[in-house]
Amino acid sequence: MDKNEYIRILTEIRNLGYDFEEFNHSKENKAAIIRHDIDFCIDSALEMARIENKLNISATYFFMVSTNMYNICSEASRSLVEQIKDLGHTIALHYDPAIYSDLDKGLTIEKNLLETMFDININVISLHRPRGFIDNSNRKLADVSHTYEDKYFKDMKYMSDSAGMFKYGHPLDQPEIHSGKNLHMLFHPIWWVNSGENQSEKLRNWQTKHFDFINLETALNCTTFDSVRAK
Ligand SMILES: [Zn+2]
Repeated sequence: MDKNEYIRILTEIRNLGYDFEEFNHSKENKAAIIRHDIDFCIDSALEMARIENKLNISATYFFMVSTNMYNICSEASRSLVEQIKDLGHTIALHYDPAIYSDLDKGLTIEKNLLETMFDININVISLHRPRGFIDNSNRKLADVSHTYEDKYFKDMKYMSDSAGMFKYGHPLDQPEIHSGKNLHMLFHPIWWVNSGENQSEKLRNWQTKHFDFINLETALNCTTFDSVRAK
């Protein structure tokens, strides 16, 4: 998985006659929804967003409010998300249902925060590690649609690169793609824009970059920390 392969997949899908659509589209066939769940890194998301923009394709980016990996409220993160939005992509919420005892209340808090911060309306969310939720997939949370509802999960051809692999085969090898069935494709940017021979190496390379960032932030926060000179 790398940038060139990502471009090849999107180009091939377009050549088969597909249109790239939002989650609430109404096409009967040949609609492709590109979904990105941002579990690790907003920088990688912006790289994907630029690639898609060059191809004149828009996707939906689902960001977390509750992750330990990034702070969506920081000035740096907000600037990156605004850039993704300005490239014509949709911003939405990637929600971790495991951290709240009241799932509806938790969702309302996080959704309101993102909507206010980025001046958007969120009509659909994606769930982080949905576990048992898929068994009860048509249950809405706080009346908000989510990506595991049958209309997105069973009625469309769903493909995911979770854990850095296509468990059920490469997207372009799926028979449904040649019969024009609507597609719901989940791509995690971390696997496509970070270098590394395998999934672990990609994650380690990302950790190294992230550590440089933490190092600089440490120096900015504390002048007696001298391993990195604050500018
Ligand atoms: Zn996730």
